[in-house]
Order: sequence, then structure tokens, then C-alpha cells
Amino acid sequence: MSEATRTALVTGASRGIGAAIARALARDGWRVGVNYRTDRDGAESVVSESERDGGEAIVLAADVADRDAPDTLFGALESHFDGPVLALVNNAGISRDDLTPSLGDEEWDAVLQTDLTAAFRLTRRALRPMLRARTGRIVNISSIAGLRANPGQANYAAAKAGLIALTKTSAVEVARRGVTVNAVAPGLIETEFIGGASKELLDAIPARRIGTPAEVAACVRFLTSDEASYVTGAVLTVDGGLAA
Ligand code: NDP
Repeated sequence: MSEATRTALVTGASRGIGAAIARALARDGWRVGVNYRTDRDGAESVVSESERDGGEAIVLAADVADRDAPDTLFGALESHFDGPVLALVNNAGISRDDLTPSLGDEEWDAVLQTDLTAAFRLTRRALRPMLRARTGRIVNISSIAGLRANPGQANYAAAKAGLIALTKTSAVEVARRGVTVNAVAPGLIETEFIGGASKELLDAIPARRIGTPAEVAACVRFLTSDEASYVTGAVLTVDGGLAA
């Protein structure tokens, strides 16, 4: 199957890093499902921009933390584009920060459900058609918070570290069938998610600047390409050297 006829799903693609990934994949010829939870206007702009660049994309509403979201999303994409989804980018993510002694059950559960459990369920749904097609690309957007301590983020760090474990385990399970599973671990990236960075934080980044969503999207673009066929179970940090 040529790259031009492949379908990709990007979760949480109405803004920020997910929007940049969706646009980059559409430019590469993927037909893209642009998932959003609340921001329909944002998702529609991503579709319009992708179409302006000559690509094909559709908006898909779903809260990835819902148990039936995988069937809703994959079902809609498979029927709209009449074929299997051969790339999944688990990008949707939230944080609910607090120091561990005061971190509530609700904050723990919400972050684990959205950032980890949803990625597992979507991966499970994605794999069967990929294994049948003997090709597929899954990219999980983790975080350097999953690799090194960041006080106030026990829930987020546990979810993002769990995502790396899910990546490595599923990667070795499916490697011989031509399906790759990799993680990208961004550092500080310019989106609404971070809400600004302090001078001390900037000084701690060897590159002395925040990254851009496009710089993360470029790595995802490589990992979803045919050229990355021998890269699997890897964690690619995109952090200006912060975790080095
Ligand atoms: P933003 O907050 O800018 O965007 C988050 C996106 O996720 C939005 O499109 C939002 O959709 C969507 N989303 C959130 N919850 C859900 C849900 N339950 N179901 C479906 N979609 C959902 O975040 P970023 O772009 O900064 O982050 C993207 C990913 O990158 C996240 O996983 C984050 O943890 C990770 N990351 C970000 C870093 C950064 O510095 N920005 C650093 C390291 C990792 P909507 O608006 O429609 O509700």
C-alpha cells in the first residue's frame, strides 16, 4: 500500500503539538483524523489548513478517556476513508499538578485515564488491522516528566512513564509483523499546556529556549515514515538537551 493511500489518527489535534502533527502528516500524504474533545473550531482550522496544503483530513469528536472512544474513532475513519488506519499518534494529554501529599484521587484518575489508559485502549484497537496489513506506525507522545523527576507531577509522570513501558512492550510484541511503536518525549514546548516558563527553567535548558510544536511534529513525521521501518521501541527526546 502506498503512503498516499494511508490513514492516520492523531488524538488531541485541535491545537498545540497534536495540531502540528496532524498538519505534518497530511502534508506527507496521510489522510488524517483530527480528534478533539471540546475545541471543534480549532480542529476545523487544522482540517482547512491541511486541505490548503493539498492534504485530506476530517474532524472527529471524542473524549479519548471514554471506553467506547476507540471504536467510535476507528469506525468513523475506516468507513470515511474506506480502509484501515495505519498510523496512530496518541497525543491527547492533560495534567493536574499538585504535590503528592495533597494530590487528590480525582486528579490522579483523570490524568491516568486520559494520558495512559486511553492510549492503551487506542493501541489495542489499532493493532489488529495493522497486524493484518503487516505494516503500521504507533507514536506515543510521552514527556521528559516520564524520565526524570518534576515535583508536583506524580500523576502525570506515572502516566508518561507508563506510556514508555507500554511503547516498549507493545513494540517487541508486534515487531516481526512490520508494525513499529515508538515514543517521543518532549521537554518544554510552546503551547497553552505550559502556560509560560520561568527564567530559571529556561536557564536549565541547554538550548536556552522553548521548543516549538513543529519541532515535535518533525520527529513524529520521521517515525511514521517508511524510512523509520527499523526504529521501534525507541524513546526520542525533543527537549533542547534538558534530559541529557
Ligand atoms: P494542549 O493543552 O495545547 O492541547 C491538548 C490537546 O489534547 C487539545 O487538542 C485537547 O483537545 C486534547 N485533549 C485533551 N484531553 C482530551 C481528551 N480527553 N480527549 C481528546 N482530546 C483531548 O497540549 P500540548 O499540545 O502541549 O500537549 C500535547 C501532548 O504533548 C500531551 O500529551 C502532553 O502531555 C505532551 N507534552 C507537552 C509538553 C509541552 O511542553 N507542551 C511537554 C511534554 C509533553 P480540546 O482542546 O479539543 O479539548
